[in-house]
Amino acid sequence: MQQRMKIIISPDPILRRTCEPVASEELPQMAKLAKKMARLMYKSDGCGLAAPQVGVTKQLIVLDTVLPEEGEERVQNPIIILNPRIVELGSTTESGGEGCLSIPGITIDIERPTSVTVEALDLEGNEIEISAEGFDARALQHEIDHLEGITMFEHLDPITCATKLQEFAEAKASGARPGDTSVGKAKDDGAAQREGDAGAQAKASSKTKPRGSAKARPKASSASLTGS
Ligand SMILES: [Zn+2]
Repeated sequence: MQQRMKIIISPDPILRRTCEPVASEELPQMAKLAKKMARLMYKSDGCGLAAPQVGVTKQLIVLDTVLPEEGEERVQNPIIILNPRIVELGSTTESGGEGCLSIPGITIDIERPTSVTVEALDLEGNEIEISAEGFDARALQHEIDHLEGITMFEHLDPITCATKLQEFAEAKASGARPGDTSVGKAKDDGAAQREGDAGAQAKASSKTKPRGSAKARPKASSASLTGS
């Protein structure tokens, strides 16, 4: 009954909607959705995907910021996050390049706190807490933005936004697809520019850990991620 899932591209209005929390009776359905979303995220070379990006306005995120070493296969170990709530943001901020699977073909520098702590639910309905730094923190904030109807463009001042919208229009016109990012721009901060929604580089090993332990650990590195 479900149609083939595909990534919704900006400026589709669904990307600006605020998503509903997942209710406990919806967990089985969300598990199925998350599985398909993860498949799509890996296929698109992304490191995160939020439900509204596939047309579902529910508070569900799939995240995997761990990137393979060069020449190696990517290990698929997604973290599924439901109903996330930011409980703490670090006081220092940093600007870094981000990509988004819904905004293919470009990367945008966005200033964000360098660490974040989030409370959420896992697919079994258990409460979890995720603390993330660096690229992980960036990716997590990028995905949570999606659940609030915020895309990368909403972070920009009007002039930069106009420039980036123009760049995006050109990228789309030249056939950019989810997972594509701008060419030749990667690696400015060692963190990454991979899209997949946010391009993060993290080791998010979470699965069903009890609150306090699902830690997204930054992997310090160099890969270049592009999308989100
Ligand atoms: Zn995104």
